[in-house]
Amino acid sequence: MAFSILYWLNYVSGTKKLQQKSELAVKADHVLKFCFDPELNHVQGRVQASMRDRSYHVNITLGENNTVVDGICDCVNGQDKCHHKASILLYGYKNVSKTDVRASWIQHPKRAPSKQTTTMEELFPPPPNIANYSYAMDCI
Ligand SMILES: [Zn+2]
Repeated sequence: MAFSILYWLNYVSGTKKLQQKSELAVKADHVLKFCFDPELNHVQGRVQASMRDRSYHVNITLGENNTVVDGICDCVNGQDKCHHKASILLYGYKNVSKTDVRASWIQHPKRAPSKQTTTMEELFPPPPNIANYSYAMDCI
């Protein structure tokens, strides 16, 4: 059983933004994890957030006639339609083959761009005239 494109099409139908965002997310390898259980009609996955260094968990229950019965995502729009759920559906279509039924892919989350290290001295620079600074002179 392949994963029908219709799940995604039905889900994003009428919402061009959702369609485009999910296409971009799949293209950009933002789908980090995808599990599909055809017996339970259940899809589970993880999608990297587009801006922030985090990912969202997505749970989708598939229904009759290639529809999505229920979906949860832990992003801010997770109760409603969001492009993370759409991305999982699109990823499923592109990656679940007929032979590979109980499929699961796991990628490692993309490494966050390395943060610049800041030393304590940079955070709290010493007074410029530290050489001549004397506590004794201030303590009158
Ligand atoms: Zn979401």
